[in-house]
Amino acid sequence: MPGDASAEPPRDLWQAEAVDVSALGNDLSRVLYTPEEVQDRIAELAAQVDRDYEGKDVLLVGVLNGAVMIMADLSRALSIHCRMDWMAISSYGSGTKSSGVVRILKDLSTDIAGMDVLVVEDIVDTGLTLSYLISNLRSRNPASLEVLTAFRKPEALKMPVEVRYVGFDIPSEFVVGYGLDYDQRYRNLTGVATLAPHVYS
Ligand code: 5GP
Repeated sequence: MPGDASAEPPRDLWQAEAVDVSALGNDLSRVLYTPEEVQDRIAELAAQVDRDYEGKDVLLVGVLNGAVMIMADLSRALSIHCRMDWMAISSYGSGTKSSGVVRILKDLSTDIAGMDVLVVEDIVDTGLTLSYLISNLRSRNPASLEVLTAFRKPEALKMPVEVRYVGFDIPSEFVVGYGLDYDQRYRNLTGVATLAPHVYS
């Protein structure tokens, strides 16, 4: 159902003017983080990565499609050299529940043996996708393998996957924006929000 053009958009998620307020404003229920809050946190994470990888040649591995936004922002906020590569993995369908099925749709173009690899994720929910990815990448013998995620849900804490850099720990709710989609939409929101119930129906 299209949004109500007269509705007030929640907080200032839209101020980057990248998104049509009248079309989407009413689809959102609650804004968790504004574009500024997201960018401030990315800058902090980049400073940490700069320190930890100083003098190293880090390979950022972005997990498509959701990590596109954080890869773009993080890499540009770094002061160190980095290389970038991408993997595409299927875990969710068009709904909001994990299928538990993980499949590589697109593999790396880089041989990561001996490299310092930093996996860049959009969100870690159950941790299923990530634990599969980590064991897969570890078998390729990188010099080091760490994970950075924009968002993490509490469930992920129960999984034996260590995430070195976390943008935000968020509640166990389905969120969209900053790369995260619902049925391939809302990825281009510059902040992060929950969806209004009418969107699911
Ligand atoms: P996990 O395997 O950790 O349960 O799920 C990881 C993947 O599920 C993410 O890469 C993302 O595609 C999807 N996912 C998990 N939680 C959310 C969420 O709240 N919103 C969206 N849009 N996708 C999510």
